[in-house]
Amino acid sequence: MEEHPDPYDEAAREAVELANQIADRHQDADLWDISDGLLMGAIHYWLYSRQPCEDPMCEECEPVSNSDQRLVELLRLVEHFARESEYFHSANDVSIGRA
Ligand SMILES: [Zn+2]
Repeated sequence: MEEHPDPYDEAAREAVELANQIADRHQDADLWDISDGLLMGAIHYWLYSRQPCEDPMCEECEPVSNSDQRLVELLRLVEHFARESEYFHSANDVSIGRA
């Protein structure tokens, strides 16, 4: 175990560990319910962290200066993380339009 893990890596790793612990405690639980709850909590925390400061001209807060911009940024990150996930593609994916 690292003494001072990077907070970004630590948050990502421990979110998955938390989901696994919840699944272990609730053997009959639907994994979709656990992952949806995890996603809801993550989005809640992300939005909390992206509240703009009181300065309307603040350059740092400009990309998240209103709810629509926060949603655009959130969806951009969601797509990025999804596409870089090792689970994005599945061997069982249904192919459409292939001869
Ligand atoms: Zn600011």
